[in-house]
Amino acid sequence: MEKIRAFLRWMMIDPRHPEIAQAQYNELKTQIPSLYALLMVNAIAVAYTHFDVAPAYLTVGILAVILLVTVVRMVAWLRARKTELAPQEAIRKIRQTVILGSLISVIYIAWSLSLDGYGGPTERGHVALFIAITVIGCIFCLMHLPQAALMVMVIVTIPYLVHYLGQNEDVYIAMGLNIFLVCLVVLQVLLNGYRGFCKLIVSQSELAAKQRETELLNAENSKLAQTDALTDLPNRRHFFKRLESLIDEVKDTGRKFAVGVVDLDRFKPINDTYGHQLGDQLLMEVGLRLKNIGIPDVEICRLGGDEFGFLYLGNLNEAARTGQFICEQISRPYRIGELQVSVGASCGIAFYPDAGTSAHVLFDRSDYALYNSKTSLRGRTTVYSAEHEARIRSERAIEAALQSADLASEFQVYFQPVVQLPERFVVGFEALARWNSPQLGRIAPDKFIPIAERAGLIHRLTLSLFEKAVAQIKSLPGSLTLSFNLSAHDVTSSETVAALLDIIRRAGVNPRQITFEITETSVIGSYEAAETCLQLLRKAGVKLALDDFGTGYSSLGYLHRLPIDCVKIDRSFVSGIRDPIASGVVTSIVNLCRSMKMSCVVEGVEESHQLELLEAMRCRLVQGYHFSAPLPFEDILASTGENGTVAGLPLSGTAAANSIQFFRA
Ligand code: C2E
Ligand code: CA
Ligand code: CA
Repeated sequence: MEKIRAFLRWMMIDPRHPEIAQAQYNELKTQIPSLYALLMVNAIAVAYTHFDVAPAYLTVGILAVILLVTVVRMVAWLRARKTELAPQEAIRKIRQTVILGSLISVIYIAWSLSLDGYGGPTERGHVALFIAITVIGCIFCLMHLPQAALMVMVIVTIPYLVHYLGQNEDVYIAMGLNIFLVCLVVLQVLLNGYRGFCKLIVSQSELAAKQRETELLNAENSKLAQTDALTDLPNRRHFFKRLESLIDEVKDTGRKFAVGVVDLDRFKPINDTYGHQLGDQLLMEVGLRLKNIGIPDVEICRLGGDEFGFLYLGNLNEAARTGQFICEQISRPYRIGELQVSVGASCGIAFYPDAGTSAHVLFDRSDYALYNSKTSLRGRTTVYSAEHEARIRSERAIEAALQSADLASEFQVYFQPVVQLPERFVVGFEALARWNSPQLGRIAPDKFIPIAERAGLIHRLTLSLFEKAVAQIKSLPGSLTLSFNLSAHDVTSSETVAALLDIIRRAGVNPRQITFEITETSVIGSYEAAETCLQLLRKAGVKLALDDFGTGYSSLGYLHRLPIDCVKIDRSFVSGIRDPIASGVVTSIVNLCRSMKMSCVVEGVEESHQLELLEAMRCRLVQGYHFSAPLPFEDILASTGENGTVAGLPLSGTAAANSIQFFRA
């Protein structure tokens, strides 16, 4: 029963394997037209030989009908060659073919057997041959549709056999039997071939399914590889891929686009103060906001840390507006748990092809523009311009000169006295680097120090300058202090720190006389490394000062967490000290330092009225042009008087308080 059901299902074309039906249909498209051609030729031949012996309606009449049907079907199949059928459609078409094949077989066998009633043995022999070769030919042509082949065989050979059996003529019975058996064998061979065909199709379709699965998996993997795990935004790899393909797309079209880089402001202090977990949560919130920012055709990627990037196809003003919009959106406050936090964002934009034509140049340029926003236009968008290009060139020239500079002869240390109030003693000096390059002339330290840092030359430079400064200060009378500026790289390099301590030890200077000045920004980058190095210095007995206080984040958290002995108030507060707000800030910081038992130096004192105000605030230590500009060591030495003065001011601890002279008063 089960077998019969399976056979019937097979005969009806099993719908569970539409891919087989599709493949069968494709094969039939090439074979069925030949089948119809064979039918036509055979039919014409048999009609021709019976033309004289059989009635015209049987030869001409039925032949005409047969030819008409055959031609129509043949044309239909020839047309179908160009079309590709959907699986379900193929099943329907194939079922139709089985039915139509059966019908045509009925017509053919009925017609042939009717013709058998006419003519002599030759004509009858032709009919028998006609049936035999037509049925075998048809079965062959239907090798990819064995269901139809079986139907044709059954419909043709059984009536054929029965017909001859009825006539009781041995030769014809033998022929009928013979054809029946041959057809059986042929069908058997066809079925074997068909099974192989089905297996091939199934395995091909399985292979194709596997391939699709692999492709899907690959697509998923590559999406994952291009997605940032924390924010779910596209990542740096995706950004650069898009950037490169965009360059390829617009290369020959004259179209322009912008590369934008956005960096969060104040993220690091938040991360340092509240911990990495909150930092991550904040980045996730920023990511969510950027994902839903709703700027058409702009995809924002996380490039790493607190840096994001975007590409904008359009004009310069629109791109700048987009950058600014992104910064503003990021700057809206965030609520994380119980906490309300706000970060800012600055943006840098570089335009293709004006700023560069390769991905890395464009990115570097937008990064440079971003750096400009961060240093002088926080919260704003800077577009990379010709002016930046010129600056980069000059920075490159500086870097090249630095690379080949002879540190011993080209660099000098200048000294600026630190004065104690109200006595106006010189208690020590701040060492400030000076560079006179044979190629470029004098270059200010705030220009060459960052370049030396970026070029990886700062370690050597710091040590060479410090060695000079220590040797020179040592040769002055009394126990003067030396303040020396360290850059971000120095503060985080244990190698530099060890070498600095070694210089102090070798020079035989008391470490307590040495103060290293650091800035908040130099510590923020890698707080942990900096803290370790600073503790190391502190342990060795040297003092630490927080420089330029009031200009950066001025986070009181840093004052607490870092091992600081002294705060240096930035000169911008002194220049505006007549303003009650500025003087209020100075007073607060001075009082804060007093309560925290730290010393405090006010920098940039230029005018006597500033000095008076600072004295009224009971400031103890000051520095500035009012007393002395930074001077070369020879000038300091030359001004060191017999009575214990230096640069015209008495040295700390000398009893020359009465003979106070002002260098520039
Ligand atoms: P800084 O540490 O804040 O140094 C004070 C700067 O203010 C010096 O500029 C000094 O010449 C200037 N200055 C002193 N008194 C006055 C004043 O009354 N009015 C005005 N307007 N300016 C005054 P300089 O020497 O050009 O140094 C600039 C910066 O370069 C320094 O700022 C420091 O951050 C850095 N620097 C200098 N030498 C070194 C060094 O050897 N190593 C490192 N890492 N940085 C250095
Ligand atoms: Ca300083
Ligand atoms: Ca300073």
